[in-house]
Amino acid sequence: MQSLDSFIDRHIGPSNEEIKEMLDFLDLKSLEELTTKAIPESLRTASSLNLPEGTSEEEALKELKAIGNQNRSFRYFIGMGYSESICPKVIRRMILENPDWYTPYTPYQSEISQGRLEALFNFQTLVSELTALPIANASLLDEASACVEAMLMCKRLTADKNRTRFFLSKDCHPQILSVMLTRSRPLGIDLVIEDWQKVGIDTSFFGTLISYPDTNGHLYDFSSFVESLHQKGILVVVHTDLLALSLFKPPGEFGADIAVGSAQRFGLPLFFGGPHPAFISARKGMERKMPGRIVGISKDVYGTPAFRLALQTREQHIRREKATSNICTAQVLPAIVASMYAVYHGAEGLLANSQKILSYAYFLYNQLSALGFKPYPFPFFDTLKIPMDKEKLEEIKNRGLEQGYLFREFEEASALGITLGEKTTPEDLLLLLKIFVPDLKNEPLNLDHLEIPSIPVSLQRQTKFLTQKIFKEYRSETKLNRYIKRLASKDISLTISMIPLGSCTMKLNAAAEMIPILWDCFTEPHPFAGREQTKGYSMLASDLEEWIAEITGMDFVSLQPNAGSQGEIAGLLAIKNYLGSIGQSQRNVCLIPISAHGTNCASAALCGFDIEELACDAQGKLDLLDLETKARKNAQRLAAVMVTFPSTYGIFEETLPEVARIVHRFGGQLYMDGANANAFLGLCKPGELGVDVCHLNLHKTFCIPHGGGGPGVGPIAVKKHLGPFLPSNELRLVEKWKTGLLCAAPLGNAGVLPVSWMFIRMAGKEGLKRCSQIAILNANYMAKKLESAFNILFKGPHGYVAHEFIIDLRPWKKYGIEVEDIAKRLMDYGFHAPTISWPVHGTMMIEPTESESKEELDRFCEALFLIKEELEAIEKGIYPQNNNPLKNAPHPPTVLCLDSWEFPYSRTLAAYPAPWQKDFKYWPPVGRVDNVYGDRNFICCIEN
Ligand SMILES: *Cc1c(COP(=O)(O)O)cnc(C)c1O
Repeated sequence: MQSLDSFIDRHIGPSNEEIKEMLDFLDLKSLEELTTKAIPESLRTASSLNLPEGTSEEEALKELKAIGNQNRSFRYFIGMGYSESICPKVIRRMILENPDWYTPYTPYQSEISQGRLEALFNFQTLVSELTALPIANASLLDEASACVEAMLMCKRLTADKNRTRFFLSKDCHPQILSVMLTRSRPLGIDLVIEDWQKVGIDTSFFGTLISYPDTNGHLYDFSSFVESLHQKGILVVVHTDLLALSLFKPPGEFGADIAVGSAQRFGLPLFFGGPHPAFISARKGMERKMPGRIVGISKDVYGTPAFRLALQTREQHIRREKATSNICTAQVLPAIVASMYAVYHGAEGLLANSQKILSYAYFLYNQLSALGFKPYPFPFFDTLKIPMDKEKLEEIKNRGLEQGYLFREFEEASALGITLGEKTTPEDLLLLLKIFVPDLKNEPLNLDHLEIPSIPVSLQRQTKFLTQKIFKEYRSETKLNRYIKRLASKDISLTISMIPLGSCTMKLNAAAEMIPILWDCFTEPHPFAGREQTKGYSMLASDLEEWIAEITGMDFVSLQPNAGSQGEIAGLLAIKNYLGSIGQSQRNVCLIPISAHGTNCASAALCGFDIEELACDAQGKLDLLDLETKARKNAQRLAAVMVTFPSTYGIFEETLPEVARIVHRFGGQLYMDGANANAFLGLCKPGELGVDVCHLNLHKTFCIPHGGGGPGVGPIAVKKHLGPFLPSNELRLVEKWKTGLLCAAPLGNAGVLPVSWMFIRMAGKEGLKRCSQIAILNANYMAKKLESAFNILFKGPHGYVAHEFIIDLRPWKKYGIEVEDIAKRLMDYGFHAPTISWPVHGTMMIEPTESESKEELDRFCEALFLIKEELEAIEKGIYPQNNNPLKNAPHPPTVLCLDSWEFPYSRTLAAYPAPWQKDFKYWPPVGRVDNVYGDRNFICCIEN
C-alpha cells in the first residue's frame, strides 16, 4: 500500500496502472524488459547503487536540518565581495518560493517569456545605471569568473594579437586573483599581478583590471591612470560594487571600458558563496563581443513592444568554439531577485542604505582611531582594514568568535577587516567596539553623531540614477505583489504545463526539496567563514560527493563548478594539468563530435585546446572509423575526446567502451558530458565504461529548478589519477599544472545543494533507478505514439530511444513551414516547445522526464496531432502557405479580440484549438517577435 508521505510516488508522474498501460502499448511486460531493450548489455552496470534507501519528506527534512544545524550561527563582517543583505519578504515569497518563477526554462521562446525577460531587462538597466555604462547583460556566473569574462572580452576587442599581457591589480579579492590565474594560464595570457601605482605598463598589454573599492576597502581616483592606459591602446576593466556606486563616481564616468562585479547585496543571502548574480556592463559598440545573454527590446508582428534575447548569433550553439563565451546556464533567478530589490527600493532606498553603511563605517573609523587603532583612512565605503600585531589580532578575533561575530583576517599583512552591510545595526557597532576594546564603557550609542563624510569631488557621484518610472512605481507591497504576479502570468512555467525540452530535463522541483534552501542555517554562512564554523556545509558536500561518485562510478568529485559549462572547463583543465604534470604538455588536441552541445566546443577553446570535429553516422552514432583516423593522425598530440552520453541524438552510444579504448590507446583522456544523466541513474556507471571525467548538471537530473536560466551546479567526477587536478578549495595561488579556484567560492553555488541532497536522499537507490526507467518509458511511449504522424529520427538497435527523441519536421518545409512555426503554434495550445533545431536542424527534441503523467503526455501528443491536421490543410491548399494558424502563431488576445478578423480560419481555431482549453487557457501575451528588427535597433536598457 502506498504511504501518504512517500516521496517517490509523488515525484513520478504516471501511476502504477498508467505504467502498465504504457508498457502494454509498447508490447512490453515490465520496466526491466524495457531497460534491457533500450540499453545495450555492454553498457549496463552489474551492481546496484550503493546508496541509502529512500525516505519520506518529513524524515529527510529532519536529517537535513540536523546537518544544517552544524553550521554555527554568526554575523558576518568578512566582506570580500559578500555582505549581509536583507531580501524583502515579498520578493522572497513571490519569487524565491514561487514555482511560477523558479521553474520556467531559459527564455529562448520569447513570446511566452515576456515576464522574466522584463525582469531581466530591469536588471540590465539597474547595472547600466549604477556603473554608467550603456550595455549590460542579464547575469554572469560569479564575480571572479565575470572578471575572467571581462579579460577575454578585452582580448576579443583588441585587434593587435601580439598583445598578450593582462594587468591585474594585486588589490583585488584573493579569489579573483586565483580564478584569473586558473583561467588565463591555459590560454597563454601573461597575467601580471602587481601594485597599480608601481607597475610599468607598455603596449604588450591588451587590458587591465582594477578594483573600486579594492579588497582593502579603499577607493582611488583612477581617472589619470585610465587615461594613460587608453593612450597606449589598453582596455580598462573596473571591478566594482554596485551599491557603492550610488555614492561614488561610477566607472563609466572615469573612463572604464567594462565594469564587472556581483549584485549579491541586492537582496541575495550569502548562501555560502552562491548563487549570486554577477554583472557586466560596457561601452556602446561592444555588445557583440559581450559574453552571456543580453535581453533586448523589439516588437511583435503587430508592432507591440516585446522583449527577446538579442544578438543570439554570438552564442555557442551557433558559433561553437568561436562563441563569445561558453556560458549557457547563468544566474537568472538571482538576477531577477536583485532587479526586484531595486524596483522595490528605488534610488532613494539604495541611497538610504549606502549612506547608512558609509556613516556606520565612518563612525567606526573615528571611534577606533580615537581608541588607538590605525584603520586605513577615508575614502572607503563599507570596509575598514585595521593593521595590528598578531597577538592583538588573535585576541580580537577570538572575542569576536565568542560573541558570534566573524571578521576578515588579511593573510599576508597582519590586519583585520570589517565589512558592514544592510543588516548592520547600531547595536552591532557598539558590540564591535567592545570586541576591540572590552573595557569600553557601555554607553548607549548616540545616533545623532553619525555623519556621512564628505567624499572628495573627484570621487563623488554627481549624476542621478534609476530615474526610470519602473524604479519609482512599486514602492508598496500591494503594488509589488501585483507587478510580480502580472509578469509571472505572462510566462509558461512547469505550473502550467510540461516543458519537454530535450537535453534539459525539466522535471519536478519538489517543494520539500526547495524548502531547506531558505533555512537560515544554509542562507547565512559566508563562504570564507572557516571550516569549524561551517561543518554543516562540509557534511552536505561530502554526502553529495560520495553519492555522485557512486552514481557515476568514479573516484573523486568536485562540486565547485556552478554550471555545466564550468564543469566542462574544470574537467578539461584536470585533463590538461594531468597531462602537463606527466610531461605530456604537447598533447593539446581535443576531438568533439559534430553532435556535441555548443558549450563543449566553447569550453575546449577556453582551455586552449586545438579542436577537431568528429563525424557521426547516418544513425546518429559516433563514427568510430573517423575517431580512430583522427586519433591516429594526432597520436602525439591527442589530449581528450568529449562525448555526450547518452548522445544528443537520444540514444545510448553502444560503442562507448570501444571509444574509450581507442582514446586511451592513443594517449588521450575520455571526457563525458553527463548532462543527460537522467537516462542512466542506477543503470549505467560511466566509470565502468572507461570514462576518465564527466560532469553532471544538478539543475537538470537532480532537481535544482531551472530558474528561467539558472542557477545551476555542474559538478565533475573523475577517476583517481585526475583527483589531484580538481579545482582547488583554497585561496592561495597554485603552481603550474595544478588547478586553482575555478569559481569565486570554494563550493560554487552551495546554497542550492540542499535541493539535490533532498532528492537523492528521498529517492534512494531504488527510487533513482526508477526515475530513469520511467523517464525512458515516458520517452518511448511518446515516441511510439507520435510515430504514427512524424518520423522519429534516431533509435537504438532494438528500436527504442533513451530518455528523449527527435521528431523530424523537415518534410513540412516544402509547404513553407519551419520548425519554428510549429514551436510558436504550440503556444496557442498552452505548451512550451521542445528543443528546436538542435542537434539536427528542422527537428524537435522531446524529453518528457519521469515527472509527467500519462495524461499530460497524451495531451502534448494530441496537440501535435492537431497541428499535423493544420499542416495537412496547408498541404491541401486550404490555407495559404504564408497565412495559416502556424505562420500567424502565437495569437495574442489583443489580436483575437480585434473587431475585424481577416485570417482564413476561425477565431476559435486560433484561440481554442484543443478541447481541454475550454477549462483553462494560457494566453500568449504578444504575437510573433521580430528578432531582426530588435538586433538592428539594439536596445538593452530602459531609456529615460
Ligand atoms: C545543458 C547542457 C550543457 C550546458 O550546461 P549549462 O549548465 O547550461 O552550462 C552541456 N551539455 C549538454 C548536453 C547539455 O544538455
